[in-house]
Order: sequence, then structure tokens, then C-alpha cells
Amino acid sequence: MIEDIQKGIALDIDDTLSITHVSWYQGLMDTFGNPENLTIQEIAKKYSHSDAVPYWESEEVIQWKIAKYYDVAGYKNLPIIENAHHLVERISQFLPISCYLTARPESTREVTQEWLQKHGFPEIPLIMKPTELGRSNHNPWKASILAEYEDRLLGIIDDNPGLIASLPPTYDGTVFLYSHLDYPHDTTINVIPCKDWDSVYLEIFRMARLFGKI
Ligand SMILES: [Mg+2]
Repeated sequence: MIEDIQKGIALDIDDTLSITHVSWYQGLMDTFGNPENLTIQEIAKKYSHSDAVPYWESEEVIQWKIAKYYDVAGYKNLPIIENAHHLVERISQFLPISCYLTARPESTREVTQEWLQKHGFPEIPLIMKPTELGRSNHNPWKASILAEYEDRLLGIIDDNPGLIASLPPTYDGTVFLYSHLDYPHDTTINVIPCKDWDSVYLEIFRMARLFGKI
């Protein structure tokens, strides 16, 4: 299936198109406490990812996160990131969006497709992580797909800086690092930090011009 996708850019979903982290942090706070008394924004900024929060590391927390990862209902009503659908549409007018590439498990395919459709995102292939691979090693899994299909996938729009370290140093695609101004500079990977969706649009427009697409 991936062999047949159109040449273009891949698109992450969680915290690139949908606001996903808020429901995770809220659930963790409600269930396991919030010893630093931080707001969701503060905790997200301080630790980047809920897996990095030192007081949320117990076995119980791990089990909660696994259940949350597979909980179909939890994906249903996630809010959309403002304007993401409009800018995806505008980008696709000059550079194809090849596919969605998400570490969500295959078992959440239906709810994910319904959510994308509900919010007006394009109908393109949805590449998901095989359910049996579990909740760990999302970045190596995603990086392996990007590297394997480098000739079709020119890059990805993704909010996760952890993905960069998982890509092979020879990877030739571009990571449009959504929602970041800073990124690991000691990398051979082409990384373009984009603070918001308007920046993603501008940077991809520039790149498309470079590739002679427009
Ligand atoms: Mg993401």
C-alpha cells in the first residue's frame, strides 16, 4: 500500500492536527496527582512529553497510558488545532500530501478516519502503527517508514523532536517540526522548525519552489 502513495509530504496527527496532549495530561493529573501544581501548558512546556514527567513513572501510570493509547473512545472528540485543515488544504494545492503517518495503533483506524473526515482533512492513505507493536518505540517505527520510503516521502510535518534522533543520519527528507522554534542543531537531518501552521505553509511553499514544483 505505501508503495502506491503519491510523492509528497507525510502528515502526523497527534498534536499536529489534533490537540491530543491535553486529554493525556488532564487524565494523568486527575488520576495520579500533580505534585508541582503546574498547569497543563506549564507541564507540557517543562517536560515536552508525558513520558518524561518524573513523578508519572510508576507501573500503574504505565498501565494507564497503555489503556489510554488503545482507548478508541478517547480519540473521538479531540479538538482540532485551529486552522490546520485550511492550511493542509492550501499546502496540497502546490505540493501533494501523501499520507497521514501516525503512531496510533491500527485498532483505532475507524475512529481516526471519522475524526479526519469530520474536520475536513483530505482523504489520503492513513499509515498507522501495527497494533501488536505496542506503545513503546514510536519514533524508531515512524523513522523506519520515512527512511524506507524516502523516494516517495519528501518529509513529514510532525511536532515530535524525538523523531529526528531516530532517523538515519543519511536521511534526505525534511522534518517540518511543527510547534517548535528550537530543535537539536547537532543533527545531519534537515529540520525546519515552524512555530505554527502559517509557518508550515510558508516553509513548504519555499521548499516546493526549490523543487521546481511551482
Ligand atoms: Mg505528534
